[in-house]
Amino acid sequence: MSKPGCPICGKPVDPTYRPFCSKRCADVDLQRWLAGVYAVPASEDESLPDKDQAED
Ligand SMILES: [Zn+2]
Repeated sequence: MSKPGCPICGKPVDPTYRPFCSKRCADVDLQRWLAGVYAVPASEDESLPDKDQAED
């Protein structure tokens, strides 16, 4: 539990790209993070039943 390694591929971490082993893995994680961030408001934007309910 001293050196967890790159969270993407498990290789030894490069101090330059901490906590990743390379820029490639850093980009992979960044895109995963962005996908998660933008997925939430995107799906929320599709469902706006709040105002319809008030009409009932
Ligand atoms: Zn990696």
